[in-house]
Amino acid sequence: MIIAIDGPAGSGKSTIARLLSEKLGLPYIDTGAFYRCAALHSLRNPESSERNISLFVNEMRIRIGTPDDPAIIILNDEDVSEKIRTPQIAMEVSNIADMKNVRIEINKKLRASAEVTGGILEGRDIQTLVCPQADVKFFLTATPETRAKRRLGDYEGMKINKTPEEVLADIKRRDKRDYQRDYGPLKKADDAVEIDTSDMTLSQVVARMLEIIRGS
Ligand code: C5P
Repeated sequence: MIIAIDGPAGSGKSTIARLLSEKLGLPYIDTGAFYRCAALHSLRNPESSERNISLFVNEMRIRIGTPDDPAIIILNDEDVSEKIRTPQIAMEVSNIADMKNVRIEINKKLRASAEVTGGILEGRDIQTLVCPQADVKFFLTATPETRAKRRLGDYEGMKINKTPEEVLADIKRRDKRDYQRDYGPLKKADDAVEIDTSDMTLSQVVARMLEIIRGS
């Protein structure tokens, strides 16, 4: 079974996908982590061209979650879980996400994983481009202010100092690029269920999604 969850930054996709993965016993595939790992490579190798980053993506090995820690991200044997969540990566990842050849390489990897194991894939273009054949599709939204508040909470947890204004500006900047990109933009599929999570608790969102998955 493939469940596709798309939505803008901070709409709750990753937390919700992780909870659904536990409840349904399906693998969780955090597709943003692939883009963030490519951004980490690019920051560490500032001279990298699109071709170089595409080659890196083609060869990189990513592991998402272990039985002990479902949030861990291992890139080529290195624990990058926190390194890929910094504000610097949030800036760089938008450049990476605009590189068509990098997207094509990441999509190949995502499709290969989804075909073998099925799973819950969350990102921007999963329901429209990566897995349009997904069994259930969700499009999660929330107001930019709500999403910025959530992201600020994540940064506080990581002891990263950011003002609410900076985080809101970053969310709006990423929204614009995600919605307006030529190849693989953020878009709701016609047959996706849209859920506005602004005034819902996590458990309410998960309960609603489980109801839809079980009824499908
Ligand atoms: O979801 P997350 O914030 O971790 O994603 C990081 C970035 O990767 C996003 O800002 C988005 O630009 C990009 N992305 C994408 N397509 C996906 C997943 C993420 O373009 N399927």
